[in-house]
Amino acid sequence: MPLLVTGTVGIDTVITPTGRADDVLGGSAAYFTLAASLFSPVRVVAAVGDDFPPSFRAMLTSDRIDLRGLETREGSRTFRWAGKYLENMNQRETLRTDLNVVAEAPPAIPDAFRDSRVVFLANTHPAIQWNMREQLPAARLVVCDTMDLWIHTTRDELMKTLAVVDGVIINDSEALQLTGQSNPITAGREVLRLGPRFVVVKKGEHGAVLVTPEGVTVVPAYPSERVVDPTGAGDSFAGGMIGYLAAKDSFHYAALRSALARATVVASFTIEDFSVRRLRDVTCEELDRRVAEFTRMLAIG
Ligand code: AMP
Repeated sequence: MPLLVTGTVGIDTVITPTGRADDVLGGSAAYFTLAASLFSPVRVVAAVGDDFPPSFRAMLTSDRIDLRGLETREGSRTFRWAGKYLENMNQRETLRTDLNVVAEAPPAIPDAFRDSRVVFLANTHPAIQWNMREQLPAARLVVCDTMDLWIHTTRDELMKTLAVVDGVIINDSEALQLTGQSNPITAGREVLRLGPRFVVVKKGEHGAVLVTPEGVTVVPAYPSERVVDPTGAGDSFAGGMIGYLAAKDSFHYAALRSALARATVVASFTIEDFSVRRLRDVTCEELDRRVAEFTRMLAIG
């Protein structure tokens, strides 16, 4: 199942209580891509500026990642984001967001990507997400993410996007801001009424809830003892989930539940180091071992 992702590929500066990383590879599509590629080949559609370091492109290069849709736009600047985590690492403050190339025309979808069957519209301007979905009529599963910035500044465009997707993966505060509901399950059900047939509400270190008309599934987070930088956990979660579904070629409730466990495990690797450092180095053996450990932990009889 060819899997395509569109979102931001950018340059982040991250400050945590224990350290900082300046001008490192980040962006929703960057994390998603590396995570999803653990399960399935991934096609990337995103734009960066001519200031995007070649070494960052190299970090995304692998035989499972097709970068023909990663456009370098001459005269434009790359998306930049800076954030700071509070003492408990659960809350973060955005210090700055420079949309730069993301505020320009959407990246072009290469003709060779038009047959993509699974599409993830990672966090970016909802008008770009909608535009991408319209251009990919062969897609059988389209899932999106969003964030508070877009909920507050581009709500109407976001509603239009939600009406044309099959699934949504968002975090609890976003689900609450989007629906006005204070309970993640009720908020998930409200989101279902906007169009999608499944919603995953992520709750950080408290796990995630899958809400569908067939049922509700809750998973805890993987019990990580070493959290260095939570940035990208959500995008890696989405990458693990959608990459697994694309590999299985099944989007039924049972597959969604299995995907939830993979998503949780992939996110647990991301947070062990800054940027994509840990995620990039995860081996199949490490992944399989942690998935087995996590699913054993869930089977409590
Ligand atoms: P996560 O921690 O999973 O929410 O993702 C963090 C990543 O999202 C960072 O690498 C940022 O570069 C990227 N990001 C931050 N703000 C935005 C935004 N408004 N739109 C798209 N991507 C963003």
